[in-house]
Amino acid sequence: MMISVKGEDGKPILGFNQEFIDELIELGGEDLLICYQCGSCTAICPLSEVFNISFRKTIKYAQLGLEEKLLKDTTPWLCYACGECSDTCPRNAKPTNILAAIRRYLTIKYDWTGLSRALYFSKKAEVAGISILAALTGLIIYLFHGPMVLERVELETFAPIHIVEPAGIITLLVLAGFLLSNIYRMYKFIMSDAYPGVKIPLSMYIKEFIKIIPTHFLTQRLMNKCRERKSYWYTHLLIFYGYALAFILFAVVLRYTQTNLPFLFVDPVSIFGILSFIFLLIGSSLAIYGRIRKTQPIWSFSHSTDWMFITLLLLVSLTGLLTGIFRTINWPLPTYIIYSIHLMLVVPFLALEVPFAKWSHLAYRPFAIYFHRLRELTYELAPVKEARRELIAQPITGGGG
Ligand code: SF4
Ligand code: SF4
Repeated sequence: MMISVKGEDGKPILGFNQEFIDELIELGGEDLLICYQCGSCTAICPLSEVFNISFRKTIKYAQLGLEEKLLKDTTPWLCYACGECSDTCPRNAKPTNILAAIRRYLTIKYDWTGLSRALYFSKKAEVAGISILAALTGLIIYLFHGPMVLERVELETFAPIHIVEPAGIITLLVLAGFLLSNIYRMYKFIMSDAYPGVKIPLSMYIKEFIKIIPTHFLTQRLMNKCRERKSYWYTHLLIFYGYALAFILFAVVLRYTQTNLPFLFVDPVSIFGILSFIFLLIGSSLAIYGRIRKTQPIWSFSHSTDWMFITLLLLVSLTGLLTGIFRTINWPLPTYIIYSIHLMLVVPFLALEVPFAKWSHLAYRPFAIYFHRLRELTYELAPVKEARRELIAQPITGGGG
């Protein structure tokens, strides 16, 4: 049910959308309606010192069902879930969880395929998605694997590089295409609130991109602003760098890692491979432990997609590590079997997580900072000085506690 008040342009300026509220509650914002708009969350947040943003205002948009406002809002992505606002919220509304729910909602909205919505609102769709992709991968391995040499481990003979490498590249390109198209939609939503008619020069687009994207993507350094819970940042970094290392070794330089040579722990490639799986194993185990024990405010609510992410991550790391161990002790059949299982887990993990679920947040966060800056630039470049001053004083996502 939607009850709304419309402005002169026919767009809603005030509304109460029960379906939207129900969806946000399902996504983890169960205490949304008990927030009484005191503004403490904005005041306490270490990131509101960095950006001119108001978490209270974002929560207000959500309470009123103003979906259009939320789509243009970068604020949910500028929250790094440190939990300090939840510690101090006088209503115990758990703003950390509300903002996480809004991020899930935005992830659904950026995705044009509808897959994200299916994953976030249907456990059956999640299980079906994983099972179908795993079964398909298993079938492809069964049909196209090379000879199984049983005297010694010959991984490249079993999984020929001329099949695995192009299949991996095509998969990654398709996934990158989905993710980029979602990022483009995010850009369109956010920039619809830019100062009208102002064109940002290309050089500024490039300069801001170089300044913002690599640093924030590689360090997620805003998490470091958290005053008390640095461990949350370290867990993230462990998972991120474990994954980045695995990506380089098993996608970019696959022909040097998937060979018939014995897998020796003294070999640098092997050492990096083992290190990456150990990082992932520790990171995912810490995240699972934290979510079970609810050691961080952000882990007080776990959506089924969060469990899907860390469980798949743990299984991918374990099977990767076991493949390395079986190769090292020269145990052919178990190596081929565990490697096949590993691939059957990697494919659904990447295909579902990268463009449609939790892994996409890794890209959305730095791009939100970038688009936030671009939008600010349009106000700074606005031609009418008076209007510019006025709008800078009242930016769309800004101020007000
Ligand atoms: S601190 Fe709590 S009650 Fe106050 S605005 Fe934030 S969420 Fe609402
Ligand atoms: S969880 Fe941390 S970063 Fe997010 S709004 Fe609250 S205090 Fe700010």
